[in-house]
Amino acid sequence: VSRFEGITMAPPDPILGVSEAFRADTHEMKLNLGVGAYRTEELQPYVLNVVKKAENLMLERGENKEYLPIEGLAAFNKVTAELLFGADNPVIEQKRVATVQGLSGTGSLRLAAALIERYFPGAKVIISSPTWGNHKNIFNDARVPWSEYRYYDPKTVGLDFDGMISDIKAAPEGSFVLLHGCAHNPTGIDPTPEQWATIADVIEEKNHIPFFDVAYQGFASGSLDEDASSVRLFAARGMELLVAQSYSKNLGLYAERIGAINVLCSSADAATRVKSQLKRLARPMYSNPPVHGARVVANIVGSTALFNEWKEEMEMMAGRIKSVRQKLFDSLSGTDKSGKDWSFILKQIGMFSFTGLNTAQSDNMTNKWHVYMTKDGRISLAGLSSAKCEYLADAIIDSFH
Ligand code: PMP
Repeated sequence: VSRFEGITMAPPDPILGVSEAFRADTHEMKLNLGVGAYRTEELQPYVLNVVKKAENLMLERGENKEYLPIEGLAAFNKVTAELLFGADNPVIEQKRVATVQGLSGTGSLRLAAALIERYFPGAKVIISSPTWGNHKNIFNDARVPWSEYRYYDPKTVGLDFDGMISDIKAAPEGSFVLLHGCAHNPTGIDPTPEQWATIADVIEEKNHIPFFDVAYQGFASGSLDEDASSVRLFAARGMELLVAQSYSKNLGLYAERIGAINVLCSSADAATRVKSQLKRLARPMYSNPPVHGARVVANIVGSTALFNEWKEEMEMMAGRIKSVRQKLFDSLSGTDKSGKDWSFILKQIGMFSFTGLNTAQSDNMTNKWHVYMTKDGRISLAGLSSAKCEYLADAIIDSFH
């Protein structure tokens, strides 16, 4: 008898489990809209040309595989903070940002959660309802208490702004407010600039600490600066804040696990101390981060030519997603005779669309139409080709009725 007899079977991951089920399906029209990974029009994974160029450069230079310091590659940490706040942002010059390379967005969030657990005992993180499924896992595992604030309004398939504001106000003073910097996952619904300003007002009033998750910088609008405007708005007000970054989507570096945690402090001195503690937390967890993705990012952002090429490729990727979004909307509006207003699809931004399909309807999408998606009604438009828009529209209309 096994010593592990007491260990029961864990449930499959709600997002990554979808890909497993997809692989097992042999139907020719099958479509994987579960995981948020960019695909070409041929629905193949895509390695950015600019990444290949950076990798060739690295190979030519014959770089070694020595350990990185605990905080990661210095050249990466410099450019990642500049990309986020803007290279000419005074917070950089003032050395008020503690930046530590993390294991992509997830690992960076996890490190921040460990910092909160250790130095803000009892403080609560409030997260949007709904949010990316892994947020809850991360705070649960870090033993950080969390609760939800209202975000999505099923009636309008839009933002429940009043609910959001009143829930942020009602949270205990000094809570961490987790915000998606841009391209909210799973809804694709972002606050307007005016709404962001009001959110900042309320957070300041309540002495809360904003905690941004920026997993899609450049991927929402196609512009790196525009997609960082929420974070920059809060920084310009002199607020202290946390930002977890990921290069999985905007550079297609999913498996390289490259990202960072940035803590913007009110003084350089505080930033130095925070950074020392982040390193102390990282050391027993994973010792030091992987080097490859960090070098790729540092080489691309550090070279004007490669940086410009990256921006073009990102616009191309964001553009393809926008065009299938439009095509899906056209197909739905053209085929559906019920008079339903589908314009919410066009208002959403980024990789995802929240369809409003419930669990049973999402099951119909998968069981009858071989369209794989998460049960919350989210579809990843990055996994859709224009050739399959009509088919998807038929599946959605059938599942709604
Ligand atoms: N936050 C959000 C909101 C995300 O959607 C993702 C990617 N699905 C991440 C963080 C982190 O992903 P990764 O760990 O691959 O950077």
